Amino acid sequence: MALLRLHLPRPLLSSRRSPALPSALSASATSCLWRGRLPASRLLCSSHPALAPDASSAAPPSIVAGLLDYLNESWTQFHATAEAKRQLLDAGFKLLSESDDWDLQPGGRYFFTRNMSCLVAFAIGENTVNTDGFKPNLETHLVPLLATKHEDTPTNSDEKSSNSTKVTHHPLLLQILSEEIGCDPDEIIGMELNVCDTQPSCLGGGNNEFIYSGRLDNLASCYCALRSLMDSSKMAEQLSNEKAIRMVAMFDNEEVGSDSMQGAGAPTMFQAMRRIIDSLMHQSMGEGALERAIHSSFLVSADMAHALHPNYAEKHEECHRPELQKGLVIKHNANQRYATSAVTAFLFKEIARIHNLPVQEFVVRNDMGCGSTIGPILASGVGIRTVDCGIPQLSMHSVREMCGKEDVDTTYRHFKAFFEMFSDIDRKLNVDF
Ligand SMILES: [Zn+2]
Repeated sequence: MALLRLHLPRPLLSSRRSPALPSALSASATSCLWRGRLPASRLLCSSHPALAPDASSAAPPSIVAGLLDYLNESWTQFHATAEAKRQLLDAGFKLLSESDDWDLQPGGRYFFTRNMSCLVAFAIGENTVNTDGFKPNLETHLVPLLATKHEDTPTNSDEKSSNSTKVTHHPLLLQILSEEIGCDPDEIIGMELNVCDTQPSCLGGGNNEFIYSGRLDNLASCYCALRSLMDSSKMAEQLSNEKAIRMVAMFDNEEVGSDSMQGAGAPTMFQAMRRIIDSLMHQSMGEGALERAIHSSFLVSADMAHALHPNYAEKHEECHRPELQKGLVIKHNANQRYATSAVTAFLFKEIARIHNLPVQEFVVRNDMGCGSTIGPILASGVGIRTVDCGIPQLSMHSVREMCGKEDVDTTYRHFKAFFEMFSDIDRKLNVDF
């Protein structure tokens, strides 16, 4: 998931458009096909006492109930994309197609999807132009069990020679799928199946301060980014003085290296940035408009972070032990497994300082392998200033993950503040002067 603010350069020639041109783009990055018979979970989340508004508190409203609902709708990358799409449409964002001409307007809010598993959303300012634990054998330890008994259905020679999925998939599986979808088994011409835990996301712990859920990595970051974009561009006046374009990009396939059409390895973000500039600026910006825009932009690569586990404290470097409920983790790595630099860390932390939000810093032990994110892929592929950060969590990549409720709200506020104040802070920052 990536949050980006792209600064578009100032026009060299007078623009055909009368309003002032945008001078900046912000982006963040992962949504439903089918909302069939999955277990209903809203009641567990929304009626939870820990989520009831506290009238005596002056604290800003929590987004945790919304996150639980989002997680419970987002069983796969396709569901996560569809749910994000539904929320964006509800919030007034306009759906674009990558195949069509884009006629973007200052103050407009747009999004597109790719492969139904990758989503890029943006709002245009008016004033702009690893762990060493149990390692399963993926071939032998993760075989799904469908049934213990099944009457074999004889297949005739016609089916064997046809393109029918009956040739390659078990009849019982096809029968179950066709019942869920409401079609004939013969109408299923192909499939991409995900096996997932159907237990709903919920709160827990002695003080109901933890979130237990599958897919926290990385839907928690995606939801915080999506909400911060929608809430920071809800009203027309929120974009009226904005010199930047605020953008969220949510990519598929991050856990397997991002090398796919719908992953961060594809030029999706670069293409989106170029098309936004083309649509808004036409030829009026002069030489190197896109390159100058990229140079002025800033990307927040948000993925989850490993929090300190009390039983495995030695897994963390002594002075860099992120804890639950202590804020976003800024990730550093001299080998560039994370894209954070001194400058990008400063700018992102400055936003936290101004808003009194906690942050933590992380480097991996020198004798341990370091994970990576889409940050270095986008930083090197697009050439954009990037900070890598994440919400601290336990049991990353397990069926049931765990993170702190406060960190979700802190992250949402940090991302929203980034969208709202990046241009002002960046204007005061001089590098390469
Ligand atoms: Zn991960």
